[in-house]
Amino acid sequence: MVSNKLILSVLLFSTIFSLSCASGHIDMFPETQPLVRDISLINARLIKAASSSQLSIDVIGEVEYGKYKAPVWVATFTPLKETKYRVFLSGGIHGDEPAGAEIMVKTIEMVAKDPKKYEDISFDIVPIVNPWGWSHNIRFNQEGRDINRDFASFKTQESAIIKKFVEGKIYDLIIDHHEDPSSKGFYMYQYGNPDTTLSRKVIEAVRGSGYPIEQDVNMIILKTKDGLIDAPMWGLWYMKITRQLSITNYFRLHNSKDVYTVETPTILDLKDRLGIHQMALEILINSLYQNEISSASLD
Ligand SMILES: [Zn+2]
Repeated sequence: MVSNKLILSVLLFSTIFSLSCASGHIDMFPETQPLVRDISLINARLIKAASSSQLSIDVIGEVEYGKYKAPVWVATFTPLKETKYRVFLSGGIHGDEPAGAEIMVKTIEMVAKDPKKYEDISFDIVPIVNPWGWSHNIRFNQEGRDINRDFASFKTQESAIIKKFVEGKIYDLIIDHHEDPSSKGFYMYQYGNPDTTLSRKVIEAVRGSGYPIEQDVNMIILKTKDGLIDAPMWGLWYMKITRQLSITNYFRLHNSKDVYTVETPTILDLKDRLGIHQMALEILINSLYQNEISSASLD
C-alpha cells in the first residue's frame, strides 16, 4: 500500500517543481497586437548571407495566425572541408529576448562571410523559432503559449516545426540563446552532464570581461550556482512527464549529449549582451577541437 505520506510528498514536490517552471499558457493575443519589428529586414539579411556558396537558407515551416504569416528559417552552413563536427544553434524562441535572435543572424552572416573560420564544422542555425513573438516583442506565440514549455505536448506550430526538422539528427553540440529580464547577471544551463569544466570556462570568460554573473535566478529546485544551472537527467524526465519540456530538454533527450542554454541579463546594453553571446558561442564551439566536450551519453 502506498502511504499517504509518500503521496503527499509527491504532490508537494510536483507543485514546487511546477512553480519553478512558470506557467506555459496565458490568453491569446488580439490580431491588433502592434508590430514592433519587421521580419522582412531579417529576410533581406539572410538572402544576402545566402550568396555565399557555403550557406543555404531554407524555410522549414510557416507560422500562421490569421493575417500574420512568417517563415521559420534554417541556415545551413556546409564547411569547406569534410564535416568533422555538427552544431545546431537557435534563438528567438521567446520573442522579447532580442539578443538571442540577433546573435544568430550575426553568426549566419559571419560564417557566410568567413567560411574558413570553421572549415570542418557544419551548422544548422534557426535564428527565430518564434517569429510572431519576435515581431511583436512578446515572449509567447500568438496563442499565448510558451513554446519553450511545449516540447512534450507539441501543441504549438513552432515546436512541431522544430521537432520535424531535428527528427533523427544527432549533433555534437547544441546551444539555445536566451535573455532574462529579471536576472542581474549572465548564467547558463547544462543538462545531464557531470562535468562542469566547460561551462565554468564560459562563465569565467564573461566575468573576466567585467560582466556580472547571476547568483540567484528565480528557480526553486534548480539553483543557480555562480552562473550555472546544472540540470540532472531525472529533471528532464520529470519535465517530460509533467509536459513542460523545453527545447533544450528535448534536444538533450533526442539529439545531442552536449546541450547548453545561455542567458544574458537585459539590464545590460544590447551591444554588451551580443558580445556575451558571441563569447559563449566561440568558447563552446572551440571546445569541439579541444576534446572538452564531456563523455556524457545520449540516453
Ligand atoms: Zn527565454
